[in-house]
Parts: sequence; C-alpha cells; structure tokens
Amino acid sequence: MLDNTQVERLEAEAVNSAKVRQPMYAARKKIFPKRASGGFRRFKWIVMAITLGIYYLTPWLRWDRGPFAPDQAVLLDVANRRFYFFFIEIWPQEFYYVAGLLVMAGVGLFLITSTVGRAWCGYTCPQTVWVDLFLVVERTIEGDRNARMKLDAGPWTSRKLVLRLSKHAIWLVIGALTGGAWIFYFADAPTLLGELFAGTAAPVAYITVAVLTATTYTFGGLMREQVCTYMCPWPRIQAAMLDESSLTVTYNDWRGEPRSRHAKKVLAAGQPVGDCVDCNACVAVCPMGIDIRDGQQLECITCALCIDACDGVMDKLGRERGLISYATLSDYNANMMLATAGGSSSVNPSLVRTDDGLFSDRVAHFHIRKIFRPRTYVYMAMWSLIGLGLLYSLMTRDRLEVNVLHDRNPQFVTLSDGSIRNGYTVKLLNMIPEPRTIVVTMQGLHGAEMSVVGGDIPAGRSFAVPVEPDRLKMLKVFVRQPADQIQGTARTFTFRVEDKASFESDEYTATFNAPETAR
Ligand code: SF4
Ligand code: SF4
Repeated sequence: MLDNTQVERLEAEAVNSAKVRQPMYAARKKIFPKRASGGFRRFKWIVMAITLGIYYLTPWLRWDRGPFAPDQAVLLDVANRRFYFFFIEIWPQEFYYVAGLLVMAGVGLFLITSTVGRAWCGYTCPQTVWVDLFLVVERTIEGDRNARMKLDAGPWTSRKLVLRLSKHAIWLVIGALTGGAWIFYFADAPTLLGELFAGTAAPVAYITVAVLTATTYTFGGLMREQVCTYMCPWPRIQAAMLDESSLTVTYNDWRGEPRSRHAKKVLAAGQPVGDCVDCNACVAVCPMGIDIRDGQQLECITCALCIDACDGVMDKLGRERGLISYATLSDYNANMMLATAGGSSSVNPSLVRTDDGLFSDRVAHFHIRKIFRPRTYVYMAMWSLIGLGLLYSLMTRDRLEVNVLHDRNPQFVTLSDGSIRNGYTVKLLNMIPEPRTIVVTMQGLHGAEMSVVGGDIPAGRSFAVPVEPDRLKMLKVFVRQPADQIQGTARTFTFRVEDKASFESDEYTATFNAPETAR
C-alpha cells in the first residue's frame, strides 16, 4: 500500500487552468482615433464621398421609360415584382441576373482580397464608411484625439453636455437619413418623401426607417470597431484567401527594430537601432485601436491610416517612407532573413543598408507582377466569364414570352359531335413598358382550332390580343380537333406568339391528349 507522497506527480497543467484563465468578457477600451493625413487618407475621403453619394443620391435619379413604367432609375418594385436598373428591367423569373451579380461580387471579393488584402474592409465596407462619417462629426464637435480624451475624462459640465447632445443628435440625423434613403429604393422617392412627412406612408416605411436609424446609430456611433472585431465573420474567413503574395498593411520591423526614442544614445553605445522612433503615431490614428507593430491581427481592417501617420513621421526625420507599408509576406520574409543574417540573430537594420545608409539592392520591394499569379488569373477568369455570360444573356434575352399550362383534370373532353377538346391556360408576357398586340398561332395538330374563353374572338388557328405594357395576360384557350383527325393519344403542337411590329416571337410546345377510342 502506497502513502500519498509515493504517488507519482505528473508535470501537466490544464490549458485553461484558473491561474491562466482569461475572463470571457473584457470591458471595451475607448478608442479616440487621431485625424490622419496623407495619400491613403485622401483616397479614403474620395471613396467615402463616392460611396455615400451613390447610396444617398441614387433613388433620386430619374430614367424615362415612357408613360407605362416608373421613371426612377433604380427601383425595387416589390408590389409589382419588378427590379428596375436604368435601362434594365428584371422580372421575377429573371432573378438569376441578381444571383449572377451576387456571385460576381463574391468572386470579386476573393480577387481583391487575394491581391490587396482586406481592401473591402478598409475602404468600402458600409461599416467602415459610416464609422468614418460618424468620426468626422465627433471630431468636428469635440475636437481631435487629445481634446476628446480630455473631454471624456473630465466631469460632466454644461459644455460637455451640449457637445455630447449635439454629437448624438447629428448621429441620429445621419441614421435617419440612412434609413430614409434605404426605403426610397423601394418606392418612388419624391412621392414617398411627401408621404413620410405627411404621415400617410405605409407603417412598414416608418418601422424600416426607425430600425435602420437605430442600427446605423448603434453600429456606426456606439459600437464602431466592435462590429468588425466581434460581429463580422469576414475577418475570420479572409485568411483562407490570402497567400504569401497578397498585399497587406505591414510593419517592416526588418528596418524598424530595435525601436528607440533615443537613437543617438543607442548608436553611441554601439547598439543597432532601427527607424521606428516609438512615437505611437501609428497607434493613435488607428480606428481599431491596435498597434500594427505587433504583427498581422484579426482587428486590422487595412485602412492604411497608420501608413500615412508613419510616413509623416519618416518625412520629418528625413528617412525613407514605408516603415509601415503595403507589403507581401514573401517580401517581408526575404527582408527579415536579410536583417537577421538568415535568422541567426535578432534584427540588425544595418544589414539591409549599404555603408551610405541607403537600402541594399537585396532588399525586396513589391512589384506589380506579383498581382498576376495563377490564383488571381483563376479569379479574374471566373469573374469575367460570369460577367460576359450575364451580359450576353441580357443582350439576347426575350422580351416576349409565352407559357402554357395544360388542364390537369380533365385531360380532354369528348364533345357531342365526337371531336376532342383540351383546355390550356396561355400566359402571354409582355416584358416591355409599351402596349402590344400579340398574335397567337397554333402550328401542327391538323384540323384543330382554338377558341378563347370569355372573349368575342372567333374560333380559328390564329387570333390577336392586346397586352398591356409590362404585364402578363392570361387566356383560357380550348383546342378542339375533329374525331377523324385524331392521330394518337398524345400529340404535340406549338403555340407561337408574335409581335408583328417588333418581329419578336416565342413558342411553346404543348401536348394534345385524346382517348384511345377517338381514333
Ligand atoms: S493597424 Fe493600420 S491598417 Fe490596420 S486598422 Fe489600424 S490603422 Fe488601419
Ligand atoms: S508611427 Fe512609425 S515611427 Fe512612430 S511608432 Fe509607429 S511605426 Fe514607429
């Protein structure tokens, strides 16, 4: 029998032992991004103006489609089940165009991400754009980073109250405008605007505006970076699309480390020193509140504002720009190998420079040809093929269609004179916003005639009917064939429809059923 001390103790520790366990919830640390200036910031202003301009102004664009169709350039007419996009009109059965566009958007996102990383997140994602807009309001009212931090830490005074109320009021107005713009895509914008203010719009319009006002205000003003970090799945799946030739925002520690605020002293002591002066300008401008010098992080939306901030610092120091830059992993790794003498030492930036202090020829720099590689060729080919396919289909699609449903029960009726009658529902689709006269003709089925129920159209093998613009016309049609002409229990024939004015036509092959005994 062993006593307690004789039982062997194994060296093992639970990975989530109480000693090392992190709390599941961490309180949010407030972020006060400093205003950045530079080329990327300017580019972001331009993208922001274009994307917001498109979103807010598009419902107000007019497009003349004649007197029988709405004149709103982009309209999702849910009530009439139509989607209008300038000169294109999509019917419900043509929804594959929308599906195709979504597939193109997905493949395009793969292409962009594999070449320039999370550019979508950094420049055009609605969350990024609206947060940027909300930050403009915040900076304008409360001041830049230091002023905002001081105001936030200070006591509640009447000034602080007025500033905070003003900021949140403007945020709510932006939220309301955003929600308002959204519903204008679903109805005639000027009419709906009048109804909204007159209180006569449908309840769903007010509810939608209220919901979108709340979500825009909450996501763009209150939650900001938390939406990207905790709610959005994109940061988690993007890694699968990146490879070593994808451009991402990178801190080039092969030239920046060892960082020091006292370079002269360090150099005097014979120690190597890198270009980073540890000024934290890159951290201060980051809207996600991270330090890019810690390496690639899920939170980084690659907005490149840290590049602008650091380039500004490098300009002041008279050093080359690009301590933080868009770089590929392969270039970064090559330069790190150079700076660490093949990985045998810590970073020594003197190894990437010549005696003149310039970069060595062996330093790898990005070249545009890195974008063109098998992976991006495949994405580009897929994207182009889908686009060309959709375009071809759009240019050659029919604007006149016929669909026919044979009566299920009874399949046929034997009339008193022995002739056989079949019933059909003929659907004529006039898919242009103009009235048309459609001629319906039957081909085949020798000796048979058509008669239209509920109209004064004489029986025959052809008749003409007017069809309203942009409408579907349903006709109940009986086809009768004399008994002596019946040639089988199931014979096919064709309904041909034609617009004599435009020469557009369509055909449908239907079946005529007869009993065995009729022959
Ligand atoms: S680290 Fe740089 S690129 Fe990434 S989110 Fe922050 S500022 Fe933007
Ligand atoms: S801005 Fe540049 S120099 Fe300043 S801390 Fe960031 S990386 Fe270093």
